Amino acid sequence: MDLKKCPLCGVPRYLARNYRWTGTGCILARRDPESRMIFEEVDFYQYIWEELERLLGVVALEVMTRTQRLALRDYMDSHILFGWKKWAIRVAPMTPLISRVIRQSTVFGLGRFEYVDHRRGKYLVLRVKNPFHLPIVAEALREMMVSLRGCHYEMAWTDEDGGYIIHLLARKDMPLEAMDEENLLSLRRAKLEAMGGPVLPTGSGMRRCSECGLPEELSQLEWREQEGTVRFRDGGFRFVFVTSHVFPGVVKELERITGRELGTMVMELSRIYHRHALRRVKLGSRGATYDALNRYSEAAGWCKVTDYSFGPGYLELTMANPYHVPRLLGRFAAFFEHLEEQEAEVTWEPTAPHNLKVLFRAV
Ligand SMILES: [Zn+2]
Repeated sequence: MDLKKCPLCGVPRYLARNYRWTGTGCILARRDPESRMIFEEVDFYQYIWEELERLLGVVALEVMTRTQRLALRDYMDSHILFGWKKWAIRVAPMTPLISRVIRQSTVFGLGRFEYVDHRRGKYLVLRVKNPFHLPIVAEALREMMVSLRGCHYEMAWTDEDGGYIIHLLARKDMPLEAMDEENLLSLRRAKLEAMGGPVLPTGSGMRRCSECGLPEELSQLEWREQEGTVRFRDGGFRFVFVTSHVFPGVVKELERITGRELGTMVMELSRIYHRHALRRVKLGSRGATYDALNRYSEAAGWCKVTDYSFGPGYLELTMANPYHVPRLLGRFAAFFEHLEEQEAEVTWEPTAPHNLKVLFRAV
């Protein structure tokens, strides 16, 4: 599949048409302003689920796939399948819908999907190469079919040379799995928190591509549709474009299950992950690094830094609309520590709704 891209910055037209970079640190879907999106590192997911499982002794991946399915069903129920549409879509032809899902997955960097076979109301078979996370992707597909068809689907995948075949089989004889209400509540709370709000003083404006209007920073990403991946041009790190509240929703669900507050642990894991990733990267001066980090944070939908100052051993920032404070500050801490070659002490306080003042100090 060839994606239509902006000739100047190389970002798919699909993103400019369907999403809005608000200038307040948020990326919102045009048709659904409650959907805040972010670019996230693929490796981070693998790393954090393994670490959380090890540290908490729970199957974090199971919680992740369950929450992902809930997020999808919640979205489909409230935005796609309400009222008459619910019935219309069940009789609509599947092929255009499958093509749309495949195109969107390519733009989001979720993997390279290909249609293999389907029979209405019976089964759907897709091929996927380079899925960003096979169980999550497969569960999301299954949930999509459950929502669309209103019946239970069994799912299995088989290895194939260089990829996988995902089989989804309708089981009308089996009851629909009920949504876990507690999990849904955690997820909705996470969504509310991730939503952000208006930004009071806007620091410098975002530099936008003169052709498509998206942040210039995104030109550092390369959409490789033959692979179904999105990669940082310099260094090859892989990214996905995902709903911002699923990860915080999983953290909340893990907190509910374990009865522990996990913010500190998530911040620490985020910091360690980026410290490790940064070993491959040569950073410039403090000024150039923080400037790039701040601009990237806005382009990737993580936050908007409205003011900052720095010097040897300290960095102070005011930021609006942080998407998930522990994840975000862990990332900033890693950059700070890499530059200072010392550990960071991180403190923060809210200055207004959706606004934080953050201080990193070398210790
Ligand atoms: Zn452009």
